[in-house]
Amino acid sequence: MKLTKIKGIVIKETSYKDNDKIITILSDTLGTVSVLAKGAKKTNSPSLASSQFLVYSEFILYKGTQYYYINSCSVLNTFYNLRIDFDKLQIAFELTRLIYRVTDENQDTSAILKLFLNTLYVLDHLEKFQKDEKLVVAIFKIKLFERLGFAPRVDICANCHEPLYEKKQEKVFYDYVENIFLCKNCIKSNDKKRYIEISVATLYAIYYVMTADLKKVFSFRLKEKEDFELFGQVFADSLSDNI
Ligand SMILES: [Zn+2]
Repeated sequence: MKLTKIKGIVIKETSYKDNDKIITILSDTLGTVSVLAKGAKKTNSPSLASSQFLVYSEFILYKGTQYYYINSCSVLNTFYNLRIDFDKLQIAFELTRLIYRVTDENQDTSAILKLFLNTLYVLDHLEKFQKDEKLVVAIFKIKLFERLGFAPRVDICANCHEPLYEKKQEKVFYDYVENIFLCKNCIKSNDKKRYIEISVATLYAIYYVMTADLKKVFSFRLKEKEDFELFGQVFADSLSDNI
């Protein structure tokens, strides 16, 4: 029996038969993987804690025909405060649904796991990071799709190739159909619904998040958050429809 050691966080749990659960783990080495946690609903089960939503653990797994099974496991972080806060738990549900939708088994999800763990940590310590939930969610979404390979160029207009940063007083436009940024001269005036208009300051923040190291992705200040939050939502929604 070949054993595989992974670290991962439970992003979905489904009841299975009387005492078992099927859990989906966002892992460091196996992608997003389904595990049949036998007996996990029993109160004396060694996998009781590790098989719960949002618990981060180390697992030793073995592979069956359809699922992986747990040989042993140990909890690394329960994110307890977050799991008992209803509003933050709803946010975690939203993010895990998105992760579940855009990742797969055997994909390299190690960076996405790090990003998600960092995001949960920041959600748990909002005051320390001087961030609110909406901004944290937007940063997560932008970085997630950058990691998945969908970063548009943010330095120049995709059409005329003029720099977008230099005209600080002007607005720039994100075309979510094509996933590109355009200057004001290059948007089609008869098709305005496909663009969102953002400030150059917001563009800087987007550029920062797309290029920053995962550890530093939450460390920036932004005065006007609305454009940034709208961009994060539109960027993630339009791309996740295409995956
Ligand atoms: Zn242009």
